[in-house]
Amino acid sequence: MNQDVVIVGGGPAGLSAALTLGRGRKQVLLCDGGVRRNAAADQIHNFVTRDGTPPREFRRVAREQLGAYPSVSLRDAAVVDVAREGELLRVRTDDGAEHLTRRVLLTVGVVDEVPDIPGARGLWGHSIAQCPYCHGWEVRGLPWGVLAPSAKLAEWALLLTGWTDDLVVFSEGADLPPDVMARLAQGRVRVEPRRIRRLLGETQLEAVELEDGARLARRMLFMHPRQRPVPLVERLGLALDEQGFVRVDDQKQSSMPGVHVAGDAATPLQSAIIASSAGMMAAALLNHALTVEAALPSEGQAMSASLGDRAEWPRKHPRRPNGSPDVKRAR
Ligand SMILES: Cc1cc2nc3c(=O)[nH]c(=O)nc-3n(C[C@H](O)[C@H](O)[C@H](O)COP(=O)(O)OP(=O)(O)OC[C@H]3O[C@@H](n4cnc5c(N)ncnc54)[C@H](O)[C@@H]3O)c2cc1C
Repeated sequence: MNQDVVIVGGGPAGLSAALTLGRGRKQVLLCDGGVRRNAAADQIHNFVTRDGTPPREFRRVAREQLGAYPSVSLRDAAVVDVAREGELLRVRTDDGAEHLTRRVLLTVGVVDEVPDIPGARGLWGHSIAQCPYCHGWEVRGLPWGVLAPSAKLAEWALLLTGWTDDLVVFSEGADLPPDVMARLAQGRVRVEPRRIRRLLGETQLEAVELEDGARLARRMLFMHPRQRPVPLVERLGLALDEQGFVRVDDQKQSSMPGVHVAGDAATPLQSAIIASSAGMMAAALLNHALTVEAALPSEGQAMSASLGDRAEWPRKHPRRPNGSPDVKRAR
């Protein structure tokens, strides 16, 4: 069956978008496959009504609730390609299936490039985090470190003093400007210029070992790892903004007509509740556009033209009983 929207990615943004589109009576396929950003985290925090929920449980409940909407289907498969086919988009998954759809919504998240410090990967999500609002409260008042090899990150360290008085900035030998050093000193933040050799501890950070073998007892390390787009975004060649996130317009549409993007993939403001909200917003915009295309032929023409073709959606695709246009397989 052809879809109104194929959602790619079943994290908070995609699940929320599926709920919105399902409630809007659109035919939706959600494909999820690949690595989840917060997979290493034990619990999601700072999501009202879901504080402390394991990520797996969050997705289970969301999927269960989506089961109430017959027009929403789920597929555990990764999308490997999206290509225009006439008025539609052809979505290919890694299990060999192909799906035709009117629009695609990418909610694929990003890839975190955890620094290549021995011990860091095992501690990521447990004793290493990037968001103090998500993982600060549980370790408040304990000895923290922050990996801050730049003035911007060192300045960010001052925020962390809201959670602990015992904070060390690991500058990795970077030459921090005098004004930043002065502000850190005023905030009683110590700066450690020696490079980190390795992190000690299995799932709980115990100490940071420095290049000369000295060890500093630390329980938590904050950092902002570099992020890159997921492989599908690279494959589609979507335009990125100056920070490396997918560039979208006010309708959340990317540089590829008909392909919309929401959640972490399109913003550095990253949390589960922000991604959910962005997914809902993108889905509502899509639902509006698709519904108007079906209801008002002239506006449908204009929208189709803006997708880069001359298709006349509503005329060519009469409405189904549920109100959604009956899109036939394009040739
Ligand atoms: C370690 C860690 C802990 C965190 N803890 C918290 C927290 O406590 N509270 C909080 O609010 N936020 C937390 N966050 C941030 C939060 O997890 C993200 O902001 C949020 O998950 C983003 O949602 P998303 O839907 O945009 O992307 P994601 O949650 O990353 O979901 C993207 C989905 O798309 C899938 N995908 C990718 N490519 C494809 C493809 N080609 N085909 C099909 N599927 C694909 C992925 O497998 C994934 O399931 C944490 C992040 C990390 C890294």
